[in-house]
Amino acid sequence: MIIRTCGQIAQMVGAGLTDAGNPSGEDFTETVVKGVCFDTRKIQPGNLFVPLIGQRDGHDYVLEALAQGAAAALWQIGRPKPEEGLPLIEVEDTLEALQKLAHAYRSELPVRIVGITGSNGKTTTKDLLASLLGTTYNVHKTAGNLNNHIGLPMTLLEMDERTEMAVLEMGMSGRGEIELLSRIAEPEAAIVTNIGESHLLQLGSREEIARAKTEILSGLKPDGFFVYNGDEPLIERLMPEMPQPSSMLRYRFGASDSNDIYPVGVMQDGDGTHFQTNLPGARSLFVPLLGLHNVVNALAAIAVAKFMGVSDDEIEQGLKVVELTSMRIEPVKLKSGVLVLNDAYNASPTSMQAGLALLTDLKGYSRKFAILGDMLELGSREEEFHREIGRALEPETVDGVFTYGRLARYVAEEAAKRLGEDKVQAFDDKAELIRKLRGLLKEGDAVFVKGSRGMRLEEVVAALKSED
Ligand code: ATP
Ligand code: MG
Repeated sequence: MIIRTCGQIAQMVGAGLTDAGNPSGEDFTETVVKGVCFDTRKIQPGNLFVPLIGQRDGHDYVLEALAQGAAAALWQIGRPKPEEGLPLIEVEDTLEALQKLAHAYRSELPVRIVGITGSNGKTTTKDLLASLLGTTYNVHKTAGNLNNHIGLPMTLLEMDERTEMAVLEMGMSGRGEIELLSRIAEPEAAIVTNIGESHLLQLGSREEIARAKTEILSGLKPDGFFVYNGDEPLIERLMPEMPQPSSMLRYRFGASDSNDIYPVGVMQDGDGTHFQTNLPGARSLFVPLLGLHNVVNALAAIAVAKFMGVSDDEIEQGLKVVELTSMRIEPVKLKSGVLVLNDAYNASPTSMQAGLALLTDLKGYSRKFAILGDMLELGSREEEFHREIGRALEPETVDGVFTYGRLARYVAEEAAKRLGEDKVQAFDDKAELIRKLRGLLKEGDAVFVKGSRGMRLEEVVAALKSED
């Protein structure tokens, strides 16, 4: 984590040294801060406390933070101070100062940074890439899903002088957000995993979503490496109009063989996926993840790992040992002999289709069931998106479908036309769904569970586990 004196911090955020020394109190220019915190419940002694202004005003907590051991705090100019003589570094805007501090800190370290954005697969690709780079370098990565205008600076500030590489997830809900994150991080390599439909409500069209994701180019270093999903024509089409480093190197990954890197010989079993790449001298690889989309995520990670100088041996190793943030198609084997594929973390039309493709490819199970919840925040076309999912439910994909929620009923309606009324049931009551499912499952069955975060379908998985 960052270790700097208050004088240095003041300079890094552009507050000027005079603001840092407090005339009526002790001079704290040389006071050392260790790490940054914006939540008094998580303060560690020596932290710099950053009062952010959200639903609550962090300035109301500054005294408490200092009492708990914070070495100093930022303070937004204009806010009345509770008392004189406090170790405060005065800034125009505390959020901007946090971002400036992260950027300045990043620039002082010899670290090489990779930024990852896209509609789906960011966290998975981040975990994969960190595992590959981790075989060779000292790697820091975004913890969990802390991918926004606060989480990303905080992630940078967690790095230390020994950090050689950082893998950063960049999330967004509107235009301009990825540009901001990319300019803070100034990555040397940037990945766009895919363009989906999440945030369609805010952005209006898939093209606008693609524009928002390609903003990642705005902070990319000269000679930077841009790795993007070549199966998505929108990204390629937007390239001419996007501001980008002139000597940027472009690289396309994806499932189809028109890409620079694509998978060959994909074979899935209950533990994960075997595959090769098309690259010369490619060897057999194994990744403990399911779904072709995860192989595609792995390809993006492989491309960047190679760019960063990781050897083929290390790539093979790093893939085998990847550990994922949970609930992203987590295989759960019940003692009853049922395989549950827990993908309850979230759902959008693209990720739902990707999950169903996995279910289609999954062989060796006597029956396959899909438990599908609403996909939320899709805007005016939400009904159509759900009907499309229903139309993708073919007999070779599933033997039975349970839906949960108001929108998922549209999935059920369409699915019933293909699978027959008796194979599809729609529920509004989760407990009832769980009861019916328990009565149905037998050894040798596989169950795929997916819905938007708000539908909390992991409760279904937990219920199945609990009787295990
Ligand atoms: P968030 O926006 O919530 O941070 P994310 O982009 O980090 O999401 P992951 O957490 O990696 O994405 O995966 C979320 C869901 O997207 C998973 O349920 C997974 O099934 C699906 N998914 C992952 N990768 C892809 C992909 N390349 N294409 C389509 N769907 C994918
Ligand atoms: Mg994520």
